[in-house]
Amino acid sequence: MAPPASSVRSPLSLSFYGAAGLVTGSRFVVRAGNDQVLVDCGLFQGGRYERQLNWQPPGFDPRRVAGAIITHAHLDHCGYLPRLVRGGFNGKVYCTPPTARLIPIVLRDAATLEEEDAEYANRKGYSRHRPAHPLFTVADAELAIRKLRGVAHQRVGNVAGFRFRFHHAGHILGAAVVELWHETDPGHRLVFSGDLGRHDVPLHIDPDPRPECRTLVLESTYGDELHPPREMKATVREAVEPTLRQGGVVLMPAFAVARAQLLALVLQELMVEGELPPVPIHIDSPMAVGVTDIYEDYEGTLELDPRRKELARVPDAVLHRTRAESRALAGLRGPAIIIASSGMLAGGRVLHHLRWVAPSARHAIVLTGYQAEGTRGRALLDGARVLRIHGTTVPVEARVISLAGLSAHADQDGLLAWAAEPPPPETVFLVHGEPMAAAALGARLADARIQYFLPDLHDRFDYVDGAWRRRR
Ligand SMILES: [Zn+2]
Repeated sequence: MAPPASSVRSPLSLSFYGAAGLVTGSRFVVRAGNDQVLVDCGLFQGGRYERQLNWQPPGFDPRRVAGAIITHAHLDHCGYLPRLVRGGFNGKVYCTPPTARLIPIVLRDAATLEEEDAEYANRKGYSRHRPAHPLFTVADAELAIRKLRGVAHQRVGNVAGFRFRFHHAGHILGAAVVELWHETDPGHRLVFSGDLGRHDVPLHIDPDPRPECRTLVLESTYGDELHPPREMKATVREAVEPTLRQGGVVLMPAFAVARAQLLALVLQELMVEGELPPVPIHIDSPMAVGVTDIYEDYEGTLELDPRRKELARVPDAVLHRTRAESRALAGLRGPAIIIASSGMLAGGRVLHHLRWVAPSARHAIVLTGYQAEGTRGRALLDGARVLRIHGTTVPVEARVISLAGLSAHADQDGLLAWAAEPPPPETVFLVHGEPMAAAALGARLADARIQYFLPDLHDRFDYVDGAWRRRR
């Protein structure tokens, strides 16, 4: 008996195993016949709910995935790779050449922090899990790193019967938009935005125009916001100046890749120009040196803003690599600036500083990026007067300021202009946004007569008879 027609034609399917109704954990599986490819392999980050998702089975079998394609080196797009490999994934991991140099630094740092945090929790006995385990180890990270393969911008790569091509996304060094198709249906192009950058920002390049496609998987982090048209330097100066003039410490939680370099650069320019008092800038991040070196290697290339001559190296910033150096900063006398990660105060070294900075009205906490629901960063934005840190309660007396205007993401207008550029896609899946943000962007797409879906976690869609259908 002949098999049913649908299995002969083996329709394209698209499944959402992360960043669906959430801003983090980007993981999308595309299937065609027996071929499976994973686009992005991110960690869930944020509050307890998001973090525990990383411990659950991913919803697909890593052993059946032929290859992974990664848009960029932020942890919410690549940080699950060590666990994917531990789960039996045996393919290659494709990304742009700069991303292939950044991911090892990011994964080794994340693994080290996981090991340090577990060790600290066990020593202090505050974890609810006894003993506390790291999500992955440095050894796990090394196994994932060996699978990385750089594929240049605009070159066509293969994973099983799939073909893919990288386009510039802006956002951070190496960030790509992925164009993907299967050899059995080359007319059906799928495009994954990854994180889409902004136009005309210092350091990073503008995104390429959207490749023509039938299906677009689009991020929506700032789907309900417009970035203020303020100049970045003025915004930074106003945020830090009062505290520095009072002799206080400004703690800037920042993503260690790209954001820390950009902040240090802007702060130093302000000091050189006399717009800010000259105070020490401490970058408390073991990653900062390595990331800065990679940025410097791409200076003057098409991978970074060509208008910018002097790039990420800030000679007067003090870099702290070891934990002992980090601990020595505790109780630092101001005026001074400390930049440390994680950017949402979800973990990492910044928490040790937060414990002594937050209780003092002399100091300030300057949030420098997106703050996901459930994080301490979001709690501070919402006016929290106490925080739980390492099992203790810490009062918040420091000033809290948000620099959302520094975002490396396109805003609602930017996303819409890029997505709707003619000819528009037939269907857009909105991911990587909180429900309100995704819905607001969806309403704009509907106004432009573009069909869209808001997928839920673990939703699967099949392309049947010329349309995407949610599988029940
Ligand atoms: Zn990103």
